[in-house]
Amino acid sequence: MNLPVPAELISVGTELLRGEITDTNAAFLASQLPLYGIALNRITTAGDNLEELNGIVRQALSRATLVITSGGLGPTQDDLTREAIAATLGETVAIDPELEKNLRAMFSRFGREMPPHNIKQAWLIPSAKALPNPRGTAPGWWVEKDGKVIVTMPGPPREMTPMWQNEVVPRLKTRFPTQPILARTIKTFFVPEATVAEICQPFFEAGNPAIGIYAKPDGIQVRLIAHGNNAADLLDTAEEKLKKLLAPYVWGKDDDTLDGLVGRWLVKHRLTLATMEDVTGGLLGSTITGSPDSQRYYHAGIIAPNDRVKSSWGVPASVITEHGAVSAPVAEAMALAVKAEPGADIGVSVTGISGPGSKQPGIVFIGLADAQGVKTWQQQYQPGRADTKERAAISALFRLRERLIELNLTD
Ligand code: AMP
Ligand code: MG
Repeated sequence: MNLPVPAELISVGTELLRGEITDTNAAFLASQLPLYGIALNRITTAGDNLEELNGIVRQALSRATLVITSGGLGPTQDDLTREAIAATLGETVAIDPELEKNLRAMFSRFGREMPPHNIKQAWLIPSAKALPNPRGTAPGWWVEKDGKVIVTMPGPPREMTPMWQNEVVPRLKTRFPTQPILARTIKTFFVPEATVAEICQPFFEAGNPAIGIYAKPDGIQVRLIAHGNNAADLLDTAEEKLKKLLAPYVWGKDDDTLDGLVGRWLVKHRLTLATMEDVTGGLLGSTITGSPDSQRYYHAGIIAPNDRVKSSWGVPASVITEHGAVSAPVAEAMALAVKAEPGADIGVSVTGISGPGSKQPGIVFIGLADAQGVKTWQQQYQPGRADTKERAAISALFRLRERLIELNLTD
């Protein structure tokens, strides 16, 4: 078996060091590399400083066979990744006529003159080949020298991700062929990470597939990575076992999203959904509309941050006065009120307190009304505004999922 290729990532940009942006490129690439038999040993963040960057690239190259950089390919003076790689390898940059032609064509398509400093985006060094970037002006570089490979990609994730997928991955597969490596993710909800870890313990010992456990906003995920010619069988067997062990909590796998799943079932059974939300401020509606099919089932979404709006949409003022806006009876009344909207089959509501400064931050009530009746649930989250909103919106979708399963309205 081929040994994993030792690799390092370098994220370039002073804004990363200042905490102004989060290094999502490194997280993305780190999750990708195991799929190609690449062992990531280190991630370094570099500021926009030539000397620093130069030293970091040199050190990474001395340890790793593959060095991947993102960022620092912009046109400005502080975008120095090309300069640093050229200096490290002792090569000189030169304008590539083909790249220059493409770059000028791109500017003229947008009806703009190319600013003179953009010309560095047409640079190459003798060891580099350009990686096309249809989403931006900066091509990447694929550099091969003395048995080492440097991959250089632009910083903006919307440019970096497709370049990785379409340009880098095929080249990596050719340059570093490995045995088949496959991954699967099993998604759970309403179960603590420690419980999942305990259930997965025997799999940690088995080694192939390798297992990882991650907490995400939509629950705890178990990631399996199998290698070898029987990787597919190994994954299927492990998935079956894990699904049995985690049975009540598993809701999806791989690219499944909760809104996509629930949406598919609603479309199939020709049901429509309406929502009334308080604490989530539209996040529930926003999550639902993340699914391209949502137009077919999402009927109405009301944001009702105060009593007056709740009442004007049909929540009895007496219920609010008697129980308070954050209560199970109000969640129930909200769900019934939106369900009463003409054309709505199911009503889902969320009311709660995200804090800070209130008596019980993190308390949330979810309501669900359908043809059979109405139900409510109470949840308590760790105080924290963004977290409470996110979890409440996701929990509401989970309750809807549970209800659809109960009513046999699934695939
Ligand atoms: P650059 O290629 O350095 O000009 O990067 C331009 C922009 O891409 C930055 O201002 C960020 O918005 C984004 N960006 C750069 N590096 C990263 C990274 N590692 N993760 C997420 N976004 C990034
Ligand atoms: Mg930059």
